[in-house]
Amino acid sequence: LVSRKKKPDDTIVSIHGENIGDGKAHFIMGPCAVESYDQVKAVAQALKKQGLKLLRGGAFKPRTSPYDFQGLGLDGLKILKQVADEEGLAVVSEILNPYDMEAALDYVDVIQIGARNMQNFELLKVAGAVRKPVLLKRGLAATIEEFMYAAEYIHAQGNDQIILCERGIRTYEKATRNTLDISAVPILKKETHLPVVVDVTHSTGRKDLLLPATKAAIAIGADAVMAEVHPDPAVALSDSAQQMDIQQFNEYMDEVKAFASKI
Ligand code: PEP
Ligand code: MN
Repeated sequence: LVSRKKKPDDTIVSIHGENIGDGKAHFIMGPCAVESYDQVKAVAQALKKQGLKLLRGGAFKPRTSPYDFQGLGLDGLKILKQVADEEGLAVVSEILNPYDMEAALDYVDVIQIGARNMQNFELLKVAGAVRKPVLLKRGLAATIEEFMYAAEYIHAQGNDQIILCERGIRTYEKATRNTLDISAVPILKKETHLPVVVDVTHSTGRKDLLLPATKAAIAIGADAVMAEVHPDPAVALSDSAQQMDIQQFNEYMDEVKAFASKI
């Protein structure tokens, strides 16, 4: 069902007037984790000023260590929804557990399925049964074929509003957090009709690579870019090293817009 052979024309996923897959570059920005109303508000205001519409933020956090901050859960989703409504934005947030899906639907505009859950088939089936767009991230060590089969699980349940997200894969290379598989973008665009997003934060894990990775993503045909922004990354409860602060975000967006208008 996700194959280009089944449906030759591009699928466009519309969220609050943003048509992902329409040939223009879109942006999904926000903190790694929701920490407080004030934190989300500051980021949301910055997004709005830049004319962006899609606010990301983790309320349920899939942390490697059980002793790390696990997120605010439903309270975090409520903060996202409140701020998004105030600023006219849409919420993109990860759901970890099928049992949280129903409650989350009241607060979230796009269900994110994280890399660690790409082959959580029961979660994929539940996401396939909802009538909201799903942003599916590529697994930590998933092949492109496995990634497409994971999307197929969602589509098979009747939900065709799927956005694929390349977020880097695990390789022997240590210079970046993961290895951004940039060629996955045109391959996914060729093999499927779904829009493709590149997450430059979790793939590179390096602030100095966010801009070049974003330019590469746009140049190679990505439909959207995801990156993390925090008002004070130094005190962030997760991904402290790679989130941009508001000033860096503004500089980044200005450069990205100038670049995108040239191609
Ligand atoms: C995230 O986007 O918040 C996240 C945890 O990313 P990933 O699932 O790609 O590691
Ligand atoms: Mn993060």
